[in-house]
Amino acid sequence: PVVLEGQPALVTGANSGIGRAVALGLAASGADVVVNYVVDPQAAEDVAHRIEALGRKAMTVRADVSSEEDVQSMFASAVEHFGTLHIVVNNAGLQRDAPFHDMTLEQWNKVIGVNLTGQFLCAREAIREFKRRGVVKHISVAAGKLICMSSVHQEIPWAGHANYAASKGGVMQMMRSVAQEVAPLAIRVNGIAPGAIRTPINRPAWETKEAYESLMTLVPYKRIGEPDDIAQAVAWLVSDAADYVTGATLFIDGGMMLF
Ligand code: NAD
Repeated sequence: PVVLEGQPALVTGANSGIGRAVALGLAASGADVVVNYVVDPQAAEDVAHRIEALGRKAMTVRADVSSEEDVQSMFASAVEHFGTLHIVVNNAGLQRDAPFHDMTLEQWNKVIGVNLTGQFLCAREAIREFKRRGVVKHISVAAGKLICMSSVHQEIPWAGHANYAASKGGVMQMMRSVAQEVAPLAIRVNGIAPGAIRTPINRPAWETKEAYESLMTLVPYKRIGEPDDIAQAVAWLVSDAADYVTGATLFIDGGMMLF
């Protein structure tokens, strides 16, 4: 159903994996979409064309989410182009894995810079825009919706990935604090914590039969998640059907958290 018409959305890291599926899912629900990317403009253009094929408007914007300057100019051009934003999905993320004793400051800073500081910079611009505009009654009950992509590793420790787990734990507490702060302004802020999803970031965990079987020992539902599993949840969370949901984390993990 088309429930997001008139609600422009911005998705970071929207040219790959989960972000791509989320951008297409929002467009399928009626939103025009800003497709952010940092590398591979061709993949971003491809997502934009698919959004247009769904009858929605799209624009691609290159911005490194860990750069304050890039993020501010991305939001300025998005607002200039679409008039405003009602939905922002903080999705961009990466990994720089290493045994803890060998982890370099560069690996640490890169992951915290993109996964946590990047979400702070985009969340701050999102809240500023939602606050400036306020509720538009015939468009949505809320004045704006922010989604922060976390991970089951906001809770489950992950040996060899301490920087990543720390960044996602940080995302969770930032999300909850912001949700509490802006709830009186009718702005909703929620988290999504995916388990194992079939995307390039974790290819080694699913591309061989052996790796897949070993991954499945961690997943009670016995299948890997698909990017669309996340996209469906995001489309619901930002719709008015989820209007009483804020500060929540939705785990989409085939039951991984049950262990
Ligand atoms: P992916 O590698 O396919 O996509 C990540 C996207 O982020 C890419 O488009 C990449 O270019 C972009 N990106 C990286 N650095 C950026 C920067 N500085 N500025 C802008 N964009 C940048 O991986 P994915 O699995 O789709 O990951 C999306 C999100 O989901 C990430 O936050 C990741 O931590 C989270 N997540 C993924 C899984 C999984 O199993 N795939 C599980 C839990 C959480």
